[in-house]
Amino acid sequence: MAAAAMATMQGRGRLLVEAGTGVGKSFAYLVPAILRAVLHNETVVVATATISLQEQLIQKDIPLLQATLEQWDLGSAARALVPVLAKGRGNYLSIRRLKVASERQDAILYDAEAKVSLHVVQDWAYTTKDGTLSSLPALERPEVWDHVRSDSDNCLGRKCPTYQKCFYQVARRELEKANLIVCNHALFFADLAMRQRPAASGGGGAILPPYDQLILDEAHNVEDAACEHFGLSLAQPRVTRLLRTLFSPRRGKGYLVERQLQLGVAGSEAVERAVHQVIHAEDAARRFFEALLEYAQRNLANSGRIVRPDVIENELTPAMRDLAVRLRGLRENIENEQDRFELQSYARRAAEAADTAEALVAQTMRGYVYWVEVDDRGGGGGTARGRGFGPRVELACAPIEVAPILRRVLFDLGTEVRAVPIDEGGEEGEGEADADVLEPDFEDGRPPRFERPSPPGSPTPPSAPAKKAIGIVLTSATLATRTASAEELTERAETAFAHAIQNLGLPPPPDTKTLQLGSPFDYSKQATLYIDLSLPNPKSGDTRRGGEGGGGPAPDDGSGRGYLDVLAARVLHHVRETDGGAFVLFTSFATLNAVGDRIKRELDRLDIALFMQGRDGPRTVVLKGFIETDRAVLLGAATFWQGVDVRGERLRNVIITRLPFEPPDRPLTQARLERIEEQGGNAFMQDSLPRAIIRFKQGFGRLIRSKSDRGRVVILDPRVKTARYGRMFLNALPEGVRIEEVRAEADECF
Ligand code: SF4
Repeated sequence: MAAAAMATMQGRGRLLVEAGTGVGKSFAYLVPAILRAVLHNETVVVATATISLQEQLIQKDIPLLQATLEQWDLGSAARALVPVLAKGRGNYLSIRRLKVASERQDAILYDAEAKVSLHVVQDWAYTTKDGTLSSLPALERPEVWDHVRSDSDNCLGRKCPTYQKCFYQVARRELEKANLIVCNHALFFADLAMRQRPAASGGGGAILPPYDQLILDEAHNVEDAACEHFGLSLAQPRVTRLLRTLFSPRRGKGYLVERQLQLGVAGSEAVERAVHQVIHAEDAARRFFEALLEYAQRNLANSGRIVRPDVIENELTPAMRDLAVRLRGLRENIENEQDRFELQSYARRAAEAADTAEALVAQTMRGYVYWVEVDDRGGGGGTARGRGFGPRVELACAPIEVAPILRRVLFDLGTEVRAVPIDEGGEEGEGEADADVLEPDFEDGRPPRFERPSPPGSPTPPSAPAKKAIGIVLTSATLATRTASAEELTERAETAFAHAIQNLGLPPPPDTKTLQLGSPFDYSKQATLYIDLSLPNPKSGDTRRGGEGGGGPAPDDGSGRGYLDVLAARVLHHVRETDGGAFVLFTSFATLNAVGDRIKRELDRLDIALFMQGRDGPRTVVLKGFIETDRAVLLGAATFWQGVDVRGERLRNVIITRLPFEPPDRPLTQARLERIEEQGGNAFMQDSLPRAIIRFKQGFGRLIRSKSDRGRVVILDPRVKTARYGRMFLNALPEGVRIEEVRAEADECF
């Protein structure tokens, strides 16, 4: 893998590597990455999906290699290795904004809890070393962070009195000097999206410095991360919070009222007009989100998908646009520079909400799927506290296929990185550019290609940048849909990666090289797969359209008991086989809760602890409980199928309740499947099945995490044996896994 990564970097090519846990993927790409950085004066970006991998790279793997660098015999020309963990701007505290928020807390904070949260931030600000969210204690009102975080629109840059000691500016300067940058996928794609904005649009710089090499680890998550960043969303709390910070009619307070006191008569009139506009915009926002909620309730069967433009009247866009104009006008009356920046930031956010609402309601981006999401747990901003007990409504869209976008902006051979300075702040623009809003015709218009900028300090003018494409390595433990045998011809073995290549928009082989590495684990000794054939086909009782995914209610097993009863009985049987130490993986929370309710009493009797994701807490909480308990069972849904690493005896049994097909009624899935069918393809074979196989591999992969791990995986879905496609799941497993079939004994009942 190291040799293949080295060749790819050298030739600025594309490489896709599937390597199982324990291969040492990170060292295999870090060694060539470090060589490119120190010997060729290049900048390498490593982007991962999870914080745990970023921490592993920056705290363990890179320091370990760095400590050995002297023994690499690199010669005197080698440059120093400068690794940095890059974080998004919004992760940093703005000392200036904290001061402003502290002075104006009565005007801008809603309640006593918000003020307590601000005091927590103030105390923390004295002691924090890097000023980033990662060390901030939990806040009762997390939205208080919005008032104190570093914000591109609201940053004075070099004019700021605390510029020199500003946490963000210090980190930015370090980032500019770095040659090995670790970040997460979200940050990488936010930077990529920003680089697509035409220079003429003005505001905001890049997040990362220009780079020569890119490594995408945990690459199975790249498609989702890209989809999110090339999509749009508008959530009710975002709009409500902005308006109530400006003016809260109930409290008669807000930023604008406070300004009124400081202005003369002329300014006071301008404030009054702005206040009226806030009240008008709040009414428009309420009607806008109520109409969306009504639409969602009328179209429950459609999972919120909105298939045509203008299904509601969009009063929000003109109201927010007018508000932005009022706020910009008000800025003219203010001399204090900090207030001018503050108003500029509010004006930009209002304009951004207006543009986003327009793009989402009028569906201006072709090739996108649009939907409304309703979270009944609240947070809709329906109360004066801005938290609200009403449902939280969000309107969103995402590209149906992200591959064509990624191909154009990233994966095409020869792609170059455009010179965009890292965002420093301090520019008081006209507020027309929207940091998160893509050009409405992005799908059709070709975004500018990346151009590699001159290195810092280089005399090369930006108009004549060095022309050098970037090299890209993607790696993960789960990218291929089958395990290719060592005897296969390269051309045949490459087909195992066809789904990843197609979905990510990578150039077809041989332009993208592929490599599938085995595992250092001896699966013949370490793992057994049990296919439990006691259950009926879960699909047969599924009332959802398409029938392949979701939780699906309850077919009968023929004995009069419902599917869920039989499923719970078999889960319990297999948990007993290993005396706990089990993960039970589900594809829906409904089934997870139903099974949990059925097995809880018996587990109590056996003195085995039960942790249910959602009911007993979020993923991190239930995982911690499981790891700290001797004999435990954890019921987990989507997020437990991947990225969870429990080594040793604690986890000895992984029970897969159902083959992990995506619910076909999820708007994005539905649109993708329709697109394939429209193009004459077979949506199930081309998309649903490969995705389910990869997810299945991820679930299976939870079991063996080290050479000493031992255990069993159980599949409680007979389709793996009875369906025509079932064999494809088994073909994707690591070599050597023993497979046994089991059935319930006649007297085994729950
Ligand atoms: S430089 Fe910008 S981010 Fe830093 S403290 Fe000043 S205003 Fe805030």
